[in-house]
Amino acid sequence: MLHLPTLISLCFILNLFIAVFFFSVYRYKKQPCYLFFATACCSFITAIALIGLRDFIEFPLLTHFFAYVFIILSPLLVILGLIPQSQAPAIKLTPLYYACAMCCTLLLAVYLIDAGQIITSIITAVLFSYAAYLMIKTPSVAVVQQRLLVACFTIHSVVMLLQVVLLVLLYSSQISQASLAFGLQLLLVTHLFLTTATALILPFIKFANAESRLINLANHDPLTQLLNRRGFFRLCKKITKTAPLNSRVSLIMLDIDLFKQVNDQYGHETGDEAIKWIAQHINELFFELGVTARIGGEEFAIFLNQQNLAQARLLAQKLCSSINEYPFYFNGNSIALSVSAGISSMLVRELNMQALLLQADKRLYLAKETGRNKVVTHDEKSLLTKAPTAII
Ligand code: GH3
Ligand code: MG
Ligand code: MG
Repeated sequence: MLHLPTLISLCFILNLFIAVFFFSVYRYKKQPCYLFFATACCSFITAIALIGLRDFIEFPLLTHFFAYVFIILSPLLVILGLIPQSQAPAIKLTPLYYACAMCCTLLLAVYLIDAGQIITSIITAVLFSYAAYLMIKTPSVAVVQQRLLVACFTIHSVVMLLQVVLLVLLYSSQISQASLAFGLQLLLVTHLFLTTATALILPFIKFANAESRLINLANHDPLTQLLNRRGFFRLCKKITKTAPLNSRVSLIMLDIDLFKQVNDQYGHETGDEAIKWIAQHINELFFELGVTARIGGEEFAIFLNQQNLAQARLLAQKLCSSINEYPFYFNGNSIALSVSAGISSMLVRELNMQALLLQADKRLYLAKETGRNKVVTHDEKSLLTKAPTAII
């Protein structure tokens, strides 16, 4: 059998350490959720301390009523920390505070009788169910840990409800205290274990999500949300590592035509919106087909896995046509935009990203030299003498 005082002391110390850790993170990051999680741990250890005092002092208001309040506060504070990250429909906090204040008033009336513990268990069960729901609705990259936390909250809720059943049986004298003692002790151990496990898993999820956000920021362009140059090459490298060696990959390089004129004539803000508009067209067409990126000021790249030159050309022509189809409207101005594209292709077996890029860039230059608003797939110098608007 587990030695309860040792276990309680261990949980006390662990939660104390985790609270100090959360407080330090809060001091450094200034994100309110860490303050909520730290105070949730503090609330839990205060409740443990007050319950422990029952053997030494006869002051039920402190050792019973306030112990119940701190038990309820702990999951409530976790919930307040989880709400901002969760995508669950927003709830109004004021009614929640009123509900908690009402529960405390009710507890104040009954804490001296057995109903106090039952009411506390019911409220905590409800709060843990809500915490499980919030966790399910929180986007997280640490999927396993997220599921573990949902399980912790759900089991915690069930444990609290089981406790209610046992307490009701005990107080209605249907079962003797001796036969229920073991069950109640087991539930208490589970409660301590789950609270400590929750406090340990929570920071892991928070840090995994923060790290993923940083990586995301480092690899994406903030204006268009497409990948930036760094993110583009990293993803292309990853994809080509697993591509069949005898398949082909293609690269489309795009540059907006005469974009300086757009900036000069309509201003930089309009220029930025035009870049976003072009990025939207690229995203809509290539969302599931390739890797898209803004690799320079008004230059874009599209990497197509297992697509040859002819397939890439068809797609690039489709993109050019969709950009040409309607003008771009902004601030009451209607601006006709077009792009030029250069495409290169290679066998995965012979792939050299730098060479692929250089070749697409050369062809893009050729498209510009021969009149813009076109797609070029070959290095032919003869293009320089052909009609400027033909799509080759
Ligand atoms: P071309 O058809 O030969 O490409 O002509 P161009 O005028 O587009 O020439 P170029 O590609 O050299 O011009 C790039 C211009 O894009 C220069 C710069 O002012 C503008 N630009 C680059 N980045 C941004 C940006 O983030 N926002 C805005 N508004 N303009 C940008
Ligand atoms: Mg340009
Ligand atoms: Mg350019």
